[in-house]
Amino acid sequence: MSKKVDVLGIEFDHTTKLETINTLKKRIMENKKTFIVTANPEIVMHAGRDPQYKKILQSADYIMPDGIGIIMGANLLKNPLPERIPGFDLMKDLLIIANKERLRVFFLGAREEVLNKAIDNVKREYPGIQIAGCHHGFFKENDPQIAAMVKKSNPDMVFVALGFPRQERWISNNFHLFEKGIFMGVGGSIDVLSGTVKRAPELWRKLNIEWLYRLIKQPQRWKRMTFLPLFILKVLRTKKN
Ligand code: UDP
Repeated sequence: MSKKVDVLGIEFDHTTKLETINTLKKRIMENKKTFIVTANPEIVMHAGRDPQYKKILQSADYIMPDGIGIIMGANLLKNPLPERIPGFDLMKDLLIIANKERLRVFFLGAREEVLNKAIDNVKREYPGIQIAGCHHGFFKENDPQIAAMVKKSNPDMVFVALGFPRQERWISNNFHLFEKGIFMGVGGSIDVLSGTVKRAPELWRKLNIEWLYRLIKQPQRWKRMTFLPLFILKVLRTKKN
C-alpha cells in the first residue's frame, strides 16, 4: 500500500502510473478484486457536497490524481503527488495487459453506437482481449439485470463509463457480487476509444494543458472548468485553517 496524500478529505495514492500498473498486474494474477477511482477536482468538490459519494470514494482500493488540478492542490498543501495519472492512460495500460494475458474485459457505458465503435476498435487494436461483454450506459442505475449480466460474463476487468458520480456508485453498489476483477470508472474514455472524441496531442498532455485542448474542442464543457478555480480556492482556505 502506498502513502496517502489527503486533498480536501480524499486520500490519493502517492504513486506513479508505472508502479500502479505493476501493482494492478499482480492483483489480477492473484485474483484480487480492485476498485480504482481516478478523481479530478470536480469529483473531489462533489464529494465535499455529497457525504454518501465521499464514502464510496473512501471505500475504493486506490484513488489516482486525474488532472493537473489535483497535482496543483497537493503541491499547495505541501504534500506533493509524483504525477498526474489520467484515467484514459490507466485504462489503456490495463488493455495492454488484458491483450497480453488474454483477459476478459467488460465495457459498460456510453451511447450504444459509440460503444459499438469502441468495441470494434478494441477488437482490432487488442486482438488478444476477450470481450466478456458490453452494454450502453443508459439504463436505470439499480437495474439488477445489468449487474447480473456483467457478473455472468465473468470479467477480469470492468470499465464503467457512466460519468461521475453514477459510475462510482454503480461499482460500489455491485462490487460485492464479484469475486475478482478490476473495476474502474472511466468517464468519457469509451468516447475516446471509439474515436468520437479526440484526446489532446502528446505535447499538450506533456505541458499539462490537456484541459485547454478539451475546452477548445468541446466549448460546451466550459461550465465544468469553473470548478478548477473554486477547487484551488478551497484548498487555499483549508491550508490557512
Ligand atoms: N453516460 C452514460 N450514461 C449516462 C450518462 C452518461 O453512459 O446516463 C456516458 C456518456 O455517454 C459518456 C460518459 O458517460 O460516454 C461520461 O462522459 P463525461 O464526458 O461526462 O465524463 P467525464 O470524463 O467528464 O467524467
